[in-house]
Amino acid sequence: MKLIKLAAIAACVLSASVFANDPIIPVSPETKATTTTLRDKAINDNSAYQILKSLTTEVGARHPGTPGEKAGIEWGIKKLKALGFDKVYTEDVKMNGWVREVEKAEILVPSYQKMVITALGRSKSTPKGGLEADIVHFKNYAALEKAADNSLKGKIAFISNRMERLKNGGGYGPANIARSKGHELAAQKGAEALLIRSIGTDDHRNPHTGATNVAMGYTAVPAVALSNPDADQLVRLMEFGHTPKIRLNIQTKDLGPIVTKNVIGEITGRELPNEVVVIGGHLDSWDLGTGAVDDGAGVAIAMATGAFIKNNVTVNPRRTIRVILWGAEELGLIGARAYAKARQADGTIANHVIGSESDFGAGPVYGLQSSKNVSVNALHVVDTMAAIMGNLGVSRRGGDTSGGPDMIPLAALGVPALNLMQDGTDYFDLHHTPDDTFDKVNPEHMRQNLAVWTVFTYIAAEWPGSFK
Ligand SMILES: [Zn+2]
Repeated sequence: MKLIKLAAIAACVLSASVFANDPIIPVSPETKATTTTLRDKAINDNSAYQILKSLTTEVGARHPGTPGEKAGIEWGIKKLKALGFDKVYTEDVKMNGWVREVEKAEILVPSYQKMVITALGRSKSTPKGGLEADIVHFKNYAALEKAADNSLKGKIAFISNRMERLKNGGGYGPANIARSKGHELAAQKGAEALLIRSIGTDDHRNPHTGATNVAMGYTAVPAVALSNPDADQLVRLMEFGHTPKIRLNIQTKDLGPIVTKNVIGEITGRELPNEVVVIGGHLDSWDLGTGAVDDGAGVAIAMATGAFIKNNVTVNPRRTIRVILWGAEELGLIGARAYAKARQADGTIANHVIGSESDFGAGPVYGLQSSKNVSVNALHVVDTMAAIMGNLGVSRRGGDTSGGPDMIPLAALGVPALNLMQDGTDYFDLHHTPDDTFDKVNPEHMRQNLAVWTVFTYIAAEWPGSFK
């Protein structure tokens, strides 16, 4: 009696969690076995590391509108073809370019000292030859908000808060408002320019650049990041009771309309070629370093994953694996927005079964997170992926995710996403600095990424059920 009752309750619970005509489809033993074999081979495969070495050495920085970006796009097309992708193509994306030309800052009072700075994305120029003004210090963005409007006439606003170092990069968001919107607030308060402490966790004399919330044209006032040691220096001068006076010379240029590209490579699905699993990274980088951890690593991991699967299975997986090297991410997800908009317009957005972007450096993956767009009936597939990734140090994590910055526009249109969570403890030491170079990347971590991405991508492309 009791047993029968329990069975009835179990059936009831099951029918409540399973939508009527959407049965749970298991991951087949064959798929699990192939995935395990691929994983164990990928952990010894250096191709992601080698691809990254080529991109950062033979191309270098890839800032939109520069010859480096053009070379990067040509490199992407050539490399995808050489890796054996079935189909390689590009899509044009229109945008407005912006470049830095001069960036110089000096403390004039109380003692002459040079500072290490960089202009933030789309910063306006100072007058030619620079401007001279006293610093007014604010501990954070909220403190500058409290200043009276037009109270900083003839001054430079300086926001000095430091971002927190966290494994998941959680310190970035809260600190970042000073970079993205500080220029507008400084203008509202009447300041001549904005100086911020770099959004970064290092103690080296490297400034961190990065985007502002400006899509075209220029920031409201010249907007500049100081290296952490230089920000400390200004704070100490004020602790000694001085009011530092500085000279700031920023010259930048709006390039007007330019065309960037999304570069795409596909492994064609053997049964469901129109259904696509999206993996990728962004091909553009900031101009200061060579874009190794941001985001050459992601580009290399995604390219290597597609090629590794193609070259290590006897027949292509059921669905198409689409590797997207998005353009102009750093200036506002420009390539990713264009990609999603075009798929919404032509109706092929429905064919995007699941996706993820690698854009958080080159650290090892430790967690697997699924978005709310993944249906309850498909969660067991994500659990299976995590189980097979288990001996690579990956565990299943809760929460929600967009699946990476360039996945945001697709996730907003309902595309399911996974987040292959990387250890980002050191990521913001390098992020957007001249120090973002290949030598910082650990080949063992790149192999681990390849193995983890192979598990996710192969199962997503081979499992016949729907993730939606
Ligand atoms: Zn990035």
